[in-house]
Amino acid sequence: MSRREEVLAEMGLSPIWKLRTEKEKPATGWIELKQAVPACTACALHKGRTQTVFGVGDERADWLLVGEAPGAEEDRLGDPFVGQAGRLLDNMLAAIGLARDDNVYICNVLKCRPPGNRNPEPDEVAKCTPFLLRQIELIEPRLIVAMGRFAAQTLLNTDASIASLRGRVHQYAGRPLIVTYHPAYLLRNLPDKSKAWADLLFARRTMSTL
Ligand code: URA
Repeated sequence: MSRREEVLAEMGLSPIWKLRTEKEKPATGWIELKQAVPACTACALHKGRTQTVFGVGDERADWLLVGEAPGAEEDRLGDPFVGQAGRLLDNMLAAIGLARDDNVYICNVLKCRPPGNRNPEPDEVAKCTPFLLRQIELIEPRLIVAMGRFAAQTLLNTDASIASLRGRVHQYAGRPLIVTYHPAYLLRNLPDKSKAWADLLFARRTMSTL
């Protein structure tokens, strides 16, 4: 143990995580990621899940849609957005000529269902976000649509409101990102559906310029 390691160990700061060189880095591809997510026990949500909800769609899609967390139906079936909010999402996608298996990938910030569909806790988001970030690296989407506060705030590293983030093209790791309302929010706030519709048209226009 080096002197630095000894000091850090005395301070209770070991084990020391060393930066790996590019060559040493394990290549986390789809196969490893799809094994790591269901095996994850990093936060307490694993105790209550029926299964993890990884994501669905074209793994080389141009469009990536990111939601918040699985609900009861998603936890039961293992796919994102298969409940009522998912039906609204599918209809909205269809309205701009998209479908969930065709050049579109859909996933969530959290891969496990929060109990009673409560909001994700900050530590749950922090533990789960590396999975999402790796999915984005592997998919290499041309455009990301962040649906709702948790997706937008996580990917943009901000605590700004959805209202203040809509209507602009943001960047996540050099990729254009557009913010819109979460479909479950729209089910409770029908007048805002027209705003979400405007967001999707904006996203489609943006995609056509890329
Ligand atoms: N809400 C989400 O954010 N994701 C789902 O998969 C379902 C509902």
